[in-house]
Amino acid sequence: MFHLEPLHTPTLALVLGLVLFTASGIMTLVGLTQRTYRGYWWWTVAQWANTISAVALLFKDAHPVMLPVSVLLSLQWPLTMLGGMRRFYVRSNLPTEPWVDYFLLFIGFSGWMWVWLANPDDVGARVAVFSLVNICGYLYCAWIVSCIRDWRQSVYLKVILFFLLGGAIFQVPRMLTGMASWGMTVHDTSLIQLPSAMLGLVIGVMFSVYMCLLLTYERTEHDLRESHRQLRVLADFDMLTQVPNRRHFNEIASQTMRLCSPGSASLMLFDIDHFKQINDEFGHGAGDEALKLVAGGARKMLRSRDLLGRIGGDEFIALLPETSVNDALHVADRMVRHVDTERLALQQAPLSLSFGVVQVMPGESLPEATHRADQALFEAKRQGRSRAVAAEATDGEAVFTSTRPFGMSTH
Ligand code: GH3
Ligand code: MG
Repeated sequence: MFHLEPLHTPTLALVLGLVLFTASGIMTLVGLTQRTYRGYWWWTVAQWANTISAVALLFKDAHPVMLPVSVLLSLQWPLTMLGGMRRFYVRSNLPTEPWVDYFLLFIGFSGWMWVWLANPDDVGARVAVFSLVNICGYLYCAWIVSCIRDWRQSVYLKVILFFLLGGAIFQVPRMLTGMASWGMTVHDTSLIQLPSAMLGLVIGVMFSVYMCLLLTYERTEHDLRESHRQLRVLADFDMLTQVPNRRHFNEIASQTMRLCSPGSASLMLFDIDHFKQINDEFGHGAGDEALKLVAGGARKMLRSRDLLGRIGGDEFIALLPETSVNDALHVADRMVRHVDTERLALQQAPLSLSFGVVQVMPGESLPEATHRADQALFEAKRQGRSRAVAAEATDGEAVFTSTRPFGMSTH
């Protein structure tokens, strides 16, 4: 136990009281000025209740009601903190309902009151019951906190758990001392030392203020990271087809081109034939479904290292590292067959695709290769659609080298 007698007790009580007020004040100020989450105000109430408990303890001899008030406010503290936890981690399915917390507090406090009223001078019994109720409260809270989903991922929840367990263990000797002097009608001041009781409260409050702020910070940090991730998805991906948009595709494709050996990648541009007519005939919804079908089919036929993007209304682009034009033409063929099979299965409007395929030349930039692929695609449209045209670069000019008709009827 603490032996703080050499210190001037009223001064120490005043200092510790001020510390408690400051800590609770900080909690309140942070709550008023920062973004906080559900449960935060329960924690703030718990700190103020503890602070008032300390003040009531200071004045316990001034009025008989001060002691039970102080005891009640001190006993509720772990349970009100738990009330905050229940709201802060609202998605966790905890094993007990909130009313159980307060039912337990009611039983514990009633037991203490009964002992106190039965024999107000039996300090030992009072201390023993107070410590026992506290130990049960701490252990109960530790149990519930350990049931919070993902508590293993939160450093601060782990620390809180250890604190609660430590708090319970710390009170065992006090309970034993109280039990040892049970029934002795003495005013044993060595059992209840005002400064050490207050110091206990201060440590508890300081610790929990610190932890509550850190939990709030942890949640804010997590939410920020999540919003950032969502923003990136919104900025980088086409929401309809879930493939990278033009800007993001250019970003990742340029990176990939830098990494693969020069002249080894193929680039293909493809587009739905007469897509406007699909929209006009079957409606915009059917058009959207066709876009999703093409994007999904393309993704399935590509390897994981290939990149796919939607660069315009009905125009897609794919970069295939370490792939010859011939192989890329095969991939295009497989894509067309796959999309047609899926389309039939889903009973969607018939559609055909046209492709422009090029080998990215050593030293050629992505926009240059895309321009050539665009010329090849244009040529595929000109030749009658539903086909793939490959283009070679000769003196900077696109020369169309091969055509692979798919034999699908264009819309
Ligand atoms: P072509 O065979 O020459 O490619 O003709 P097309 O009709 O496919 O090409 P065009 O560029 O004339 O029309 C593309 C249409 O795509 C026009 C536009 O309304 C439609 N479109 C663009 N974005 C979307 C979209 O997100 N959903 C739907 N349903 N339609 C879109
Ligand atoms: Mg089109």
